[in-house]
Amino acid sequence: RKKQYEAVLTEPAVTLNGRRVAVCINSGDAESRRNFCDGFCDGIGLFRTEFLFMDQRACPNEELQFAVYKETAEKAHGKEVIIRTLDIGGDKKLGYMNIPQENNPFLGYRAIRICLDQPKIFLTQLRAILRASAFGNLKIMFPMIVTAEELRKSREMVEKAKAELRAEGIAFNEKIPLGIMIETPASVLISDKLAKEADFFSIGTNDLIQYTTATDRMNEKVQYLYDPCNLSVLRAIHQVIQNAHKAGIPVGMCGEAASDARLTPLLLAMGLDEFSVAPAQLGRIKYLIRRCDTDKLTDWVNDVLESDSIDEVKQRLASEALD
Ligand code: PEP
Ligand code: MG
Repeated sequence: RKKQYEAVLTEPAVTLNGRRVAVCINSGDAESRRNFCDGFCDGIGLFRTEFLFMDQRACPNEELQFAVYKETAEKAHGKEVIIRTLDIGGDKKLGYMNIPQENNPFLGYRAIRICLDQPKIFLTQLRAILRASAFGNLKIMFPMIVTAEELRKSREMVEKAKAELRAEGIAFNEKIPLGIMIETPASVLISDKLAKEADFFSIGTNDLIQYTTATDRMNEKVQYLYDPCNLSVLRAIHQVIQNAHKAGIPVGMCGEAASDARLTPLLLAMGLDEFSVAPAQLGRIKYLIRRCDTDKLTDWVNDVLESDSIDEVKQRLASEALD
């Protein structure tokens, strides 16, 4: 199989019935930044900027961030690079950022909440991304959105950064798309509303599974619940894709579930537009997509979504396995 996966690396991800989807990679840490090559993928579907912050003793300044984002934009040769703004907190701590000890860090001060609370850090990052947007196809993505107000406030911060750059005569992409992570049940439930104010969605299944099933993604004792094949999770994904498409915006997936071969036909048949995976999974996911005929799967999707147990979901998925 390995040879077959490698053979399709340079091919586009097109289903048997002719649907072109994007297959991108997740990047962000120093090694993946170094190794990034746009040859085999449609771009970077998730650039985790927190690595940049975790590698330093203090917040990286605008110049340092700009240099990294610019280099990444240039290496992508016009393909998209989705830069996610700082997603710290939860399991990712930063000594210099005054994140308090909390009883429930995953339910506390994290991600967009920190950025909106510490506008200087947020503005610095947004200025760096905007400046780099003059050198490639950059998009901005906000993590952990749970209300429309958070998205609006984040947009306002982007406008503020743009106004500063304009006044300083610094080039940037005026039309840079602004998207959000869908990784909480709250954002799923209001995804019809959010879709009217965001330019794209990306489903973060790592957190979405955890928050939907109330299961700590690190706690071994309860790992049997932490499963993308939970009906609740699959229905959430389905709802998000439907609401995104009703509003005419694209939806990707950048959590681990995007690399889960069992789910590939289901995600395709639900209409997912973009898979963002670990670089090592690119060949396999492309191979599976190119073997899939989604026209034949409409009734099957409904059957999966009516399953009565995780086991039944898995059996139904196995009946359309592509590998
Ligand atoms: C996710 O939650 O699925 C995600 C991609 O973000 P992270 O794993 O960085 O929390
Ligand atoms: Mg997440």
